Amino acid sequence: MQRPWENRRYLLQSCVAPPVLTYSSRATGKMTNISIKNHTLRGFSLIELLVVVAVVAILCGMLLPVLAKARGQARLARCINNQRQLLLTWHLYNGDNREMAAANGHGMVSPGISLSSSASGSGFKKFWVPGDDHFYYPAFTNAQWLTDPQYALFGSYVGSASTYKCPEDRGTVTIPNVGKFPHVRSYSMNEYVGWSLDPGELNPAYRTFTKSSDMRAPADLLVFQDVHPDSICFPAFVVRMPGEPDQFYHYPSSLHNERGVVTFADGHAEAHRWADPRTRPPATGGLLAHWNDSPNNPDLAWLRTHSSYRVDVQN
Ligand SMILES: [Zn+2]
Ligand SMILES: [Zn+2]
Repeated sequence: MQRPWENRRYLLQSCVAPPVLTYSSRATGKMTNISIKNHTLRGFSLIELLVVVAVVAILCGMLLPVLAKARGQARLARCINNQRQLLLTWHLYNGDNREMAAANGHGMVSPGISLSSSASGSGFKKFWVPGDDHFYYPAFTNAQWLTDPQYALFGSYVGSASTYKCPEDRGTVTIPNVGKFPHVRSYSMNEYVGWSLDPGELNPAYRTFTKSSDMRAPADLLVFQDVHPDSICFPAFVVRMPGEPDQFYHYPSSLHNERGVVTFADGHAEAHRWADPRTRPPATGGLLAHWNDSPNNPDLAWLRTHSSYRVDVQN
């Protein structure tokens, strides 16, 4: 026997008209029809649609900041991971080289490959990574040099150029008549760590750390840090020390929600918040000069304290 719901006609009717349910009473055996009234098929009214749209908009408004924050936290974690890898590389390199700190400074990328005026007469010298002044574009756009042992001391240790890039750094270098290219490096090394050029370029009142045993307070000694995209140039992060003008030579990055990642010689990394708005100029794709005045800036004081200590002070 065919059941009502198996009948094509029944199905067709139930779709276009109020359904009629039929059942048989056990007591009387009579068939009874029940019509479901007021059953009509129709679409959303405009008001209902607007309510749905409003609810979706409110939910999006609540969720998007949460998602953006989560994405920011993920990028911060990747930056910390990058710098920890670099710190591990630095320790490995130093261990492989009789505890002499990896060379740091600025200058030619390779003999005969430079437009730089900053080689300081010392000629070609290989550093932990290549880096030159702002107008020698390949030093900032050629990722291959970062992982090539011919150009970078870390080349044999770090296989991926992405290790050198902060995920928040969207800075580009504009090469006249050629186009815009993304930076390949976001991190620099404290100039007082591993400086291998003319010592006269640094403040002689402050300690230069050329081997592991020099680093007597490693938990307070900066090694790597996020650099402002408009400020990155040399492999060395230069800080004007007390006694020099109260200026930023290089700016730290504040792209992680007013913070930048910094790592210390003992192996720990942290996201440091730069308190003074003058330390956080917006990234414009321009060029931050090496002589921006910033008197009484607590962030400059912090950088100085964690870059080196006076040679006449015993730690
Ligand atoms: Zn970063
Ligand atoms: Zn520079």
